[in-house]
Amino acid sequence: VADPVLASREQQQRRDRVMASSAERYYDDPPQFERGWDTRLVSTTGRAYLDMVNNVTAIGHSHPRLADAVGRQLHVLNTNSRFLYEAFADVSEKLLAHAPDPSLDAVIPVNSGSEAVELALRLARAATGRRDVIAVDEGYHGWTTGADAVSTSAFDNPHARGSRPDWVHLVDAPNAYRGPFGGEDAGARYAAQVREVAARLSAEREGPAAFICEPVLGNAGGVVPPAGFLAAAYAAVRAHGGLAIADEVQVGYGRLGAAFWGASTQGAVPDIITVAKAAGNAFPFGAVITRREIVDALAREGMFFSSAAGAPASAVAGAVVLDVIRDEGLQRNAARVGEHLFDLLEGLRRRHPLIGAVHGMGLYQGVELVRDRDTKEPATEEAAEISRRLLARGIIVQPASERQNVLKVKPPLTFSREDAETFVEALDIVLKEYARS
Ligand code: PMP
Repeated sequence: VADPVLASREQQQRRDRVMASSAERYYDDPPQFERGWDTRLVSTTGRAYLDMVNNVTAIGHSHPRLADAVGRQLHVLNTNSRFLYEAFADVSEKLLAHAPDPSLDAVIPVNSGSEAVELALRLARAATGRRDVIAVDEGYHGWTTGADAVSTSAFDNPHARGSRPDWVHLVDAPNAYRGPFGGEDAGARYAAQVREVAARLSAEREGPAAFICEPVLGNAGGVVPPAGFLAAAYAAVRAHGGLAIADEVQVGYGRLGAAFWGASTQGAVPDIITVAKAAGNAFPFGAVITRREIVDALAREGMFFSSAAGAPASAVAGAVVLDVIRDEGLQRNAARVGEHLFDLLEGLRRRHPLIGAVHGMGLYQGVELVRDRDTKEPATEEAAEISRRLLARGIIVQPASERQNVLKVKPPLTFSREDAETFVEALDIVLKEYARS
């Protein structure tokens, strides 16, 4: 048997030869994985790693119900979604049963988060007859032309803000820890920015088509917007005739524990919701959920069709994910284990000055590392080094945010109390060692 470490390097070289260099990857010298089970990934060296980062795999790796159901469907029928078959209506009814409001009564299937956001923007433009969109700074919504235009996550692209098309209008990320506003009225003050931009667009142009935002700022490191922000921002854009888009691609579907949808944790009801990633547990299933009249507006303007979106195998994957979340009580697990994890991380913050803040809720959290708690200077190199040292201890965690200084925690929703303790103990040891080195 070949040396597995050398084999991993060879695999990396093979991948580098065929893959475009701008494709992101984890670690400089990554382990090669050959299987996954529940919250663990197993490398070719036979080592099991605790997967803290893979929020695509919401119901855990290699879930037998998913593998069986999708496998069975692939043996029977998988085809272009223009044909009539049962699986699409099935998954759509299941999704709508979770809709945060009965007014959201229509589902359009897609294959990815980028596609969902692209379609959400098109729907908003068709329904309002306008083109301007208000987006939140430091967000990421996908790579396709429209989704990329409303993404300003710039950590690897110094031109991300300067290169926005003229229809994109940015407001500050509603981050009470780092942004311009903190304190009691922070939610209202960030929302006031949305109101000001919407009012300016109404006065100078035709008014906003939409406001798009992640309900919890996943790409900023799991930052929960200050209370009242989302509901007030939605009211502001609607007052000027625009629609509210909740990008739930990362934080949706029970992950936040307190509610099934991210927007619901903020007491807000969007007009358009995007889901993908975890919706198919890494199988290509995503959707846009909205009101029928909004879909009809797009139908009058042209058409939307994505050949394999909602195809039988993808639709079955989507339905099984929803069933498993319900049957295994994964939203409740996210709430309970998330609370325990948050308390443990807060305990670490009290003992380790490098931890400036613990963000997030449920099983979407962020451990923000700073060199100085007063200046909040980002501990970027430290975050990279701590991630490397955690990998050496069998834990996969990655830095996130513009400053790459937030350790992002978004494991499968099957994550247990013991998993949380394993992670926090390892982080404690690594932080102690790092402080001494
Ligand atoms: N929206 C959000 C909030 C995301 O985090 C992502 C992916 N990171 C996307 C959209 C794009 O999804 P995909 O990679 O499936 O195209």
